[in-house]
Amino acid sequence: MRLDSLLCAMIESFSHLQQVALERDLADVFLESDEQEHAVPGDQILEALRRRRAVMRDCVERGKGGGTSMGKLVGNEAKLLNDAFLAGRTFLDPLTVKAEIYALSVMGENSRMGVIVAAPTAGAGGVVPGMLLALEEERHIDPETTVRALVVAGGVGSIIALSANISGAAGGCQNEVGVAAAMGAAAVAYMMGGTARHSIHAAAIALKNTLGLVCDPVGGLVEVPCVKRNALFAVHGLTAAQLALAGVESVIPMDEIVEAMVRIGRALPRGLGETAEGGLATTLTGCTIGDRLKNEANERRAERAAERERAAQERKESVR
Ligand code: SF4
Repeated sequence: MRLDSLLCAMIESFSHLQQVALERDLADVFLESDEQEHAVPGDQILEALRRRRAVMRDCVERGKGGGTSMGKLVGNEAKLLNDAFLAGRTFLDPLTVKAEIYALSVMGENSRMGVIVAAPTAGAGGVVPGMLLALEEERHIDPETTVRALVVAGGVGSIIALSANISGAAGGCQNEVGVAAAMGAAAVAYMMGGTARHSIHAAAIALKNTLGLVCDPVGGLVEVPCVKRNALFAVHGLTAAQLALAGVESVIPMDEIVEAMVRIGRALPRGLGETAEGGLATTLTGCTIGDRLKNEANERRAERAAERERAAQERKESVR
């Protein structure tokens, strides 16, 4: 067995990754590690990720059409921004605007219960496709490179998940959208020809600047602030990748940033961990919406109970 194969059998930290990846292609390092650890051949992983990329692309197209979300709070953000973009009414550069549109598209679909790719979660599912698909399109990057960049994104997320629970309930939105921005930043650095070191620093810069981000969804739905937050953090991730590719490095190493994220998550009050009992969810407007959603849910429950009772009554009468 080759020495580098032994080394990457289980990548347990970012410092370890930096050692084993050195001059190597980062996607190859993760593919090799997965193959050794889980016995899944690299070509099967790539094929699975080709399908994920296709779902992301499809989701972006569906999402641009808009439509109201389940809670009726969001859903048309991607359509509005896309219309403005097509009409020449946007002022940011096309890569940034497309990253925002695509992130909003995915989250719009998520809010309507459409099919999306969780990356790493559904609530943060717009960040990675927003960044990667916009970059692929704007810089004319081969889709196969995007697929390999998804390997990098997944690998970065997996190392974080060794120490942190990837959920807003466990540690706030830093654990969802923050981790997505880190995964996307590393993948973008890879797509732009960066080294493993660039990718790790891109992830570090992205993640550390999301620390403390709370999870306070209005009415407990993944709509407000989640949908727009994905668009903003897609741009945040692009910025982190840009800094890293220019040689800007995080003073705090990525492993220590992940540790800090876990500590901050533990210190968060319960109301800021996806309970809808704090932050935006308990603003005047948030409470009003929350009450409306509860009333609607109660009405639906009562209707379903009445329906079941009617059906039972009819069954009884037909037996007599
Ligand atoms: S606010 Fe909470 S529910 Fe919304 S995206 Fe962030 S972690 Fe997920």
